[in-house]
Parts: sequence; C-alpha cells; structure tokens
Amino acid sequence: MNFQLSPELKTLQQQVRQFVNKDLLPLEIEVELADGRLDPAVRARLQGRARELGLNGFALPKAMGGQGYNWLEQVVVSEEIGQVTNGLGFVIPDPAIAFTVATPEQVERYVRPACEGKRQDCYAITEAGAGSDPSQMETTAVRDGDAWVLNGEKWHVTFGDLADFAIVQAATDPAVGDGNTLFFVDLDSPGVEVLEHPRYMHHLIAGHLKIALRNVRVPQANVLGEVGQGLSLSKEWFRRERVMIAARCVGAAERLIREASDFAQQRVQFGQPISEYQAIQFMLADSLTEVWAARLMTYAAAQAADEAKTDEEVKLVHAKASMAKLYASEMVGRVADRAVQIFGGRGYMRENVAERYYREVRVERIWEGTSEIQRIIIAYSLYKRGVAAHLE
Ligand SMILES: Cc1cc2nc3c(=O)[nH]c(=O)nc-3n(C[C@H](O)[C@H](O)[C@H](O)COP(=O)(O)OP(=O)(O)OC[C@H]3O[C@@H](n4cnc5c(N)ncnc54)[C@H](O)[C@@H]3O)c2cc1C
Repeated sequence: MNFQLSPELKTLQQQVRQFVNKDLLPLEIEVELADGRLDPAVRARLQGRARELGLNGFALPKAMGGQGYNWLEQVVVSEEIGQVTNGLGFVIPDPAIAFTVATPEQVERYVRPACEGKRQDCYAITEAGAGSDPSQMETTAVRDGDAWVLNGEKWHVTFGDLADFAIVQAATDPAVGDGNTLFFVDLDSPGVEVLEHPRYMHHLIAGHLKIALRNVRVPQANVLGEVGQGLSLSKEWFRRERVMIAARCVGAAERLIREASDFAQQRVQFGQPISEYQAIQFMLADSLTEVWAARLMTYAAAQAADEAKTDEEVKLVHAKASMAKLYASEMVGRVADRAVQIFGGRGYMRENVAERYYREVRVERIWEGTSEIQRIIIAYSLYKRGVAAHLE
C-alpha cells in the first residue's frame, strides 16, 4: 500500500489548494458574520472558477458532465475543500447521489446542468419519524397512470434553499424491491411547499429546509433507477459520501493544527511562547498523530473502493467507509476542541477558525448516518467477515 501522491494527484491537490486559498478563504469571516449568506453573484463567480479549474462534478463520469475522478482523486479534492469553513467548499458544483443510473434524458435535464452549476440539486431522505431508521418513512409515492403522486414531509434538506430540484426518497409498494424509490422532483412543481428554514449550529452557505410534498405529480420518466431501488441507491450514495466526509474532516483537522501551532509559537505568556509548554505540545502532538491515522484510513478506504470488483469487496468497502467516517469525524471534534483551548479567549470568537470549526464539525458525527449507526454497520461486518478482512 503506497499513499505517496502521484504527480497527477499532486497537481490536482495544488489546483484545489490554490482555489481554496485564493478564492474561498478570504470570504470566510464575511460569510460567517452574515450567518452563512453568500452573495449569489459571488457564488456564480466561484462556480465559474471551479469550472475553469475542472473541479465541477468531480464525483461523476465525464459522460454525465463530470470529471470522471476515481475515489482517490475525489478524496484529494475533498480533503482540500475541508480546509475552509462555512461550507464554502460546497460552492463547487458536485451533484449528490449515485446518478450513474440516470437515464440519458435525466442526465440532460438534471445531472449535466447540475455539474455545470446551472441547476442545483438537494437530497431529501430524512423525515420527522424516519432518521436513522428509514423503515419508518411516511412519504409515499403512489402510481397514477403514467405519473406518481408524492405526499410527505422532509426534514433537514441541505441546499433546499438554493436548489431547484430534489431527489426525493419515498415509500413505494413494499413488495417491490426494497420498498423505496427515488424521484427527481422539480421544486417549482405544484404541491411543493417550504415549511420552515430553521437555524442550525453552523453557518454554512446552504440552509437545511423542512419541505412538504402535497399531491405532487411526478412523471414516470423522473424515477431514478428502478422502482424499489431507493434504499440501495441511497446506500451507494452514503458509502461515497462517508469517505468524502472523512476526507473533509482530515482537511479541517490539518488546518486547525496548522493554525493552532502557528498561534502557539507566537503567543507569549509568562515570558515565553506557549508552544514551549508541554500542556500545549501534548494537545498538538495528539492532534497530529490522530489526523495521520484518519488520513491513512481515508486514503485506504478510497483505494479499496477503486479496486473493489465483486459484491463482497463492495460490502467490505461499505464497512471501511463507516470506519473512516466514524474515526475521522470523532477525531476532528477532538482536534477542534483542543484548538479552541490553545487559542484561549480568541478561540471563542466567531472570527477565529477554531470557533467556527468547533461548531461546524459537530454535524459530521450526525449526518450521513450517526456515529452509532456507523458502529452498528462495522460490528455486523465484523461478525460476517472477521477481523482480518477489515485490516487488509
Ligand atoms: C445539518 C444537517 C443537515 C442534514 N442534511 C440532510 C439532507 O440533506 N438530506 C437528508 O435526507 N437528511 C439530512 N440530514 C439528516 C441526518 O441525516 C439525520 O439527522 C441523521 O441521519 C440522524 O437522524 P435523526 O436526526 O432522525 O436522529 P435519530 O435517528 O432520531 O437518532 C437520535 C439518536 O439516537 C441514536 N440511535 C438511533 N438508532 C440507534 C440504534 N439502533 N442504536 C443506537 N443508537 C441509535 C442516534 O445515533 C442518535 O444519537 C441532515 C442533518 C443535519 C443536522
């Protein structure tokens, strides 16, 4: 196993790093103090820049308007965009979901324009009663001629405020497939209603909306994949996104350690830089050690995904994606907590990077499956496949 980045990967890393440092970092505090609002004109400019650099649609094949990056390349991009707060890295158009099953017509209507930044997607699975347990889903889709009629309420829909279409997961006939189906839903369809735009702990450039669907008619042509394939397509998405979350957490931790270490070497108390005190050194040393471990795990999970061919190998990748997400998300929480401590009172100010990350990274242990759900996935995989398979 060799995690030396190839010259091509280093070039990609440099390109994203340049975008983050030059275009995104200068906006952080302004966006934070505006509670996450990003001027639409600035967003459009940044999206244009991401397109120029060939970063848009980085998770999708070229035939769909994406870059055709493999998982390792996607991890390199995600690690870099994790180094900026307020979700500013999310300006890069990177449509959600395993769109590889989209029909050619769906690609032209939704996927390609989303890769180009002309349309914005969001992904609506969670409901009031169905979070970790999707079997409690109450949103239904009932067939009516050549259309489907959707009814239900979705919670926490990220990008709901900026999106013009959603991928909605709804319960269909329980006897068909896994009993769930995904639909492309245009958000200007009659019957789609924004119920609430709640405020959250972090201030990202996108909100998380509560959306109602009341007798929303969706043509059969808007079914993504097969009827009854919804749960398994969402699972595919979770697998990919968990590894990207791990990569973003690694990037966030790298930035926190860098900034806390720089600060510690400049901040003088009791006649010497606080970096000379072991209490500070131990926090930085633990953080650096943990981010290295998380980075190796994340790269290994991505490499395993790129090499997986059989169903069994994909299942193992699923467990490894959970391990990477679990460890990296909990690691970055500890790193952010230590960074706030090293910055002292400054670390509690919203203009300070540690304060922002301290709030922002908390959700990494919740979305795309909580830490407890990751542990359940890992434990069942252990029982089925044994220890050794997970360590390869
Ligand atoms: C900022 C934010 C953005 C989000 N964006 C989206 C989005 O775009 N689209 C979307 O569909 N969803 C989104 N979500 C929802 C997110 O995926 C869910 O919050 C998450 O899956 C947990 O579901 P829940 O909140 O209902 O918690 P619950 O499932 O009610 O869990 C509550 C607690 O119980 C624990 N628990 C549950 N079951 C078990 C068990 N079997 N064993 C042990 N402990 C258990 C959980 O780990 C957790 O600690 C977002 C959430 C947030 C906070």
